[in-house]
Amino acid sequence: MTNRRNFLKQASMLVAGGVAGGSILTGCGGGSKGSASKTPAKHIGLQLYSLREDVSDLGIQKVLEIVARMGYSHLETAGYSDGKIYDLPPAEFKKMVNDLGMKVTSAHLGRDLSDNRNEDMAWWNRAIEAHAAAGMKYMIMPSSPLDGEGATLDNVKRYGDYFNAIGLITAGVSIAFGYHNHDFEFKNKIDGVPVYDLLIENTSPRHVIFQNDVYWTQEGGYDPVEYLKKYPQRIKTLHIKDVKAIGVSRTMDFKAIFDQAYANGVKDWYVEVEEYDGTPQEDVKKSYDFLAEADFVK
Ligand code: MG
Repeated sequence: MTNRRNFLKQASMLVAGGVAGGSILTGCGGGSKGSASKTPAKHIGLQLYSLREDVSDLGIQKVLEIVARMGYSHLETAGYSDGKIYDLPPAEFKKMVNDLGMKVTSAHLGRDLSDNRNEDMAWWNRAIEAHAAAGMKYMIMPSSPLDGEGATLDNVKRYGDYFNAIGLITAGVSIAFGYHNHDFEFKNKIDGVPVYDLLIENTSPRHVIFQNDVYWTQEGGYDPVEYLKKYPQRIKTLHIKDVKAIGVSRTMDFKAIFDQAYANGVKDWYVEVEEYDGTPQEDVKKSYDFLAEADFVK
């Protein structure tokens, strides 16, 4: 899990990489559907972390153009720093996405609790202002230190309180605050209960949602479908993830996952690819095509 615990550092490094030069719009915006043109357009979301190396190498504008051409319609960011999203003023980033026929609806960002709660909340207040300006529906904390020796009931309660406080503020600007899991929230148990369940039980249903990463849940030893059934009011968005490109490993039962998600009323989900057989762009495109052509994806 070391690679994922470095998520925030990597995200800020990407932002530090910045936007490469003044990219020029290709003029083909609007999200042409490419090889999926036989099927009606579906709302397929992408976590931009999937193309983190391209963001660093090509700049965010170019990557957004590539993603729009693949057919993705909804985006989740992983590039917040100092009031900016991918080094851009939030409204400018939103316009860049909208001009390509897409929407940015969710963001990954986070700050571990420090010993100065006022500074922590000041950081969040600035971040919330930025994400409200970008028109986000969700702000999602991608990880936490609730792993290994950090997986104590005391810490779960501290983070539960922290999440409640953040979610109370985001609610004021109609943004849902949530938490995204890896496998450690399932592998770490307290008196036999996974940290994931304890976090759900120690946060307010009014102020904290959960974005279930279905792959990491399965890696943690649990069935994401069972979790969707167990917490239909708490799990509101998903990361659709596989070992590499979606659908290739054949170890994930995506039909069962989508069936249950739709039954629960889940509307927003994002493809995430973190390891690749081909180039990141090839595997992100392959993932789109798999879901665009799958009967179980509406
Ligand atoms: Mg994920």
